Parts: sequence; C-alpha cells; structure tokens
Amino acid sequence: MPISFDLTPEQEEWRKRVREFAQKELLPRAEEIDEKEDVPQELLDKMLKELRLPAVWIPKKYGGFELDKVSICLITEEIGYACGSCIPFVEVAGLGTLPIVIGGKESLKEELLPKIARGDAFPALAMTEPGCGSDAGAITLKAERDGDEYVLKGVKRQISQVHIASFFVTSARTHPDPSLRARGVSLFVVPKDADGIRIGEREPYIGTRGHKAYVIHFDNVRVPAENMLGEENKGFRILMQTLDETRLTLAAGNVGIAKAAFDAALEYAKKRETFRKKLWEHEAIGFMLAEIATEIEAARLLCYKAAWLSDRGEKHTKETSMAKWYGTELAVKAAVNAMTVLGGYGVMKGRVERCFRDAKCFTFAQGTTQIQKLIISREIAR
Ligand SMILES: Cc1cc2nc3c(=O)[nH]c(=O)nc-3n(C[C@H](O)[C@H](O)[C@H](O)COP(=O)(O)OP(=O)(O)OC[C@H]3O[C@@H](n4cnc5c(N)ncnc54)[C@H](O)[C@@H]3O)c2cc1C
Repeated sequence: MPISFDLTPEQEEWRKRVREFAQKELLPRAEEIDEKEDVPQELLDKMLKELRLPAVWIPKKYGGFELDKVSICLITEEIGYACGSCIPFVEVAGLGTLPIVIGGKESLKEELLPKIARGDAFPALAMTEPGCGSDAGAITLKAERDGDEYVLKGVKRQISQVHIASFFVTSARTHPDPSLRARGVSLFVVPKDADGIRIGEREPYIGTRGHKAYVIHFDNVRVPAENMLGEENKGFRILMQTLDETRLTLAAGNVGIAKAAFDAALEYAKKRETFRKKLWEHEAIGFMLAEIATEIEAARLLCYKAAWLSDRGEKHTKETSMAKWYGTELAVKAAVNAMTVLGGYGVMKGRVERCFRDAKCFTFAQGTTQIQKLIISREIAR
C-alpha cells in the first residue's frame, strides 16, 4: 500500500466544520477569553453541546462519534490556530473520558459516556500533586478499601477544567507499600459533588488562561468500589494508554498555534519595508520564516504518523512523544521568531505574545518536554 496524504471525505468534512466554527466564533473572541480568563457560556455550549467536541473520544455505542485519531488531530489544529485556550475542550475531555472507555465497568460507561457525548457532563483528570508531577508514580493520595467502598484522602493540584467538570478521574495509591510506586496506583471516578471534595484555590497560568486549573482536596471521600477503573493497582497502565492518545491533541493543537504565529509574521514581513526592501527579502528574516514553515510541516507529519499508527492499532508511544515535544516546543519557537519579525509590535499585547504564553504552558502539560525525551530514549534503547 503506497503512502497517501489524502484525507477521507469524513476527515475533510470535520476539518471544514471545525475550521468554520473556530474562525467565525473563537478567533474573534480569543483576546477576550484570554483577558477575562473565561470562555463565555454561549461558546462553551457551542463547543460541548453543538459541535460536541468531547464526543470525538466516545464509541458510537454510547452516543459518541468514535473518531479516528487523524480527525482528532485535524480538529485540534483548527482550534489551536484560533484560540489556544480552547484546546483543552478536546484534550482534557479525552484525558477524563478515555480511562472510562478503556477501564470502566459497563454500568459506569452507560451512566457517564452518553452524558459526556451530549455535553451534559465534563470530566477532569487528577494526577498531579503538590509533591509530584512528572514522577506520577510517586503520588501519595491514598484510597483505602472499606467494605464496598474506597475512602480517598489527599490533595491534587494543577487540575484543568475543574470549574466545568462534573466528575474527576483521579489516581490514588491503593497498595500500602509505596516502594511499588506505579504498580500500587489505581484510578477512580469521583463525582465533584461527593462529600469530602473541597475545591481549593485557582492556580493561574501565564497562558491558556481561558482554561482554568485548581487544587482539589479529597477529605475522606467515599466512592463505591465499582467506580474503580480497571483492576486494583493496575491504573497506571490505563493512564499511560490514555496519554498515548491525548498527547497527540497537544501536539496538533500546538501545530495550530505555531501556524497562527507564523501567519502573523509572514503577513507582516510581506508588507513592512526597511532599507528599501520588504522584511522577508532580508535573508535573516526570510530564512527564519523558511525554517518555521518547514518545521510546521514536520511537526504536522509527526502528528499524522502517530495518529495513523494509533488508528491501525499499533504501538505509538515513541511517535506520540516525538510529536508532543516537537509540536509544543515548535509553537514556542514560532511565537518567539514571530515577535522578532514584528519588532516592537511583537512584544505588545496581542495574538503573537498570546501564542507564546499558550504554547509555553503546553510544553509542561501531559508530560514536559524532558519527560517526552525520557520516554523516547527508553523506547529507542529497548
Ligand atoms: C497548562 C497545564 C495544564 C495541566 N493540566 C493538568 C491536569 O488536568 N491534570 C493533572 O493532573 N495535571 C495537570 N497539569 C500538571 C502537569 O502534568 C505537570 O505540570 C507536569 O507533569 C510537570 O510536573 P511538575 O509541574 O510537578 O514539575 P516537576 O515534575 O517537578 O518537574 C520540574 C522540572 O524538572 C524536569 N524534570 C523532572 N523530572 C525529570 C527527569 N527525570 N529528567 C529531566 N528533567 C526532569 C521537568 O521537565 C520540569 O522542567 C497541567 C500543567 C499545565 C502547565
């Protein structure tokens, strides 16, 4: 079978639909979203209930679109191009939904997945704690069995979309021996209104300001044993399987951010003249643009390759991590270069500096650049 870069009619249709929405509805309000640190309710409803973005992750059986990963990349690139703050409406939806799709009991799937697919519920994923982020196997939040329930005690922080979430998928230590690390971790679905859940302070990032992160306190929260995803002490595998897919949304979303910064720079470089030449005609600027244009193509192809492998059911951990670090770091670089091209105007408040702030945040989310390189190095040394 020869390599083909053609999209299917369905993929083209998704891209067109989301592009129209993002250009018409998100782009004109991206600055307001960033300034007010909030996504207006009508846009939220459009994304969750009309476009039904979270449903891309959900099997058709539960009312979802069951989209292929290439389509999900196309969608998040369009959203990232228009508004970096809105990438988490696809990304975090996947983080909180896929663990249920992969490890949830049938009753839990029937209860939650159709609601997420309709836009009547939204999930969050709680892994990070005050004492650990990258080292996700070092968590200390405890879940102890008590009859038919588990009792959860501990703190999570930097948890995205808590303000709109109706429940959390949380990692918890279920094995008494901490030296087992990741092999002592389980996953639970916890309703946001469960007794003992206390939402703490907001943790404002410099970018992606329309999406919000919070501290969550679990003060002896009781959840039924059926809310465990997969088997006891085997939750980490589900987490890693989930991240293999959802990291791709950050990769593709940041290709969109890189393209937004690049387009702003190119447009300016074609108009602005210095020393009787257009900016792009100065080699220093023209080559900078040529480099970013090439790297955007490369980053997009990394996304498509990983997505294609995922859609074929093949292992793609290495390719996903390559796409994630490259895409997010490229978006930072594209924004910094665009600032250079725009001169003093580049460091004024506006689209390009917003691209920089959003992209820099995404280099940390779902595993930092260093952690992606750690994963890649382990995979290539196997
Ligand atoms: C925008 C955004 C959204 C987020 N959303 C969520 C969410 O919804 N749910 C959630 O659970 N978490 C979320 N996080 C938290 C995120 O997962 C963590 O920030 C990330 O895993 C890094 O953890 P840390 O901040 O504790 O840094 P640390 O793990 O303390 O790392 C500090 C620095 O050291 C580096 N480092 C660590 N270990 C190594 C190593 N072995 N080799 C080389 N370098 C290393 C890191 O790369 C980093 O630069 C979000 C973060 C951001 C920025």
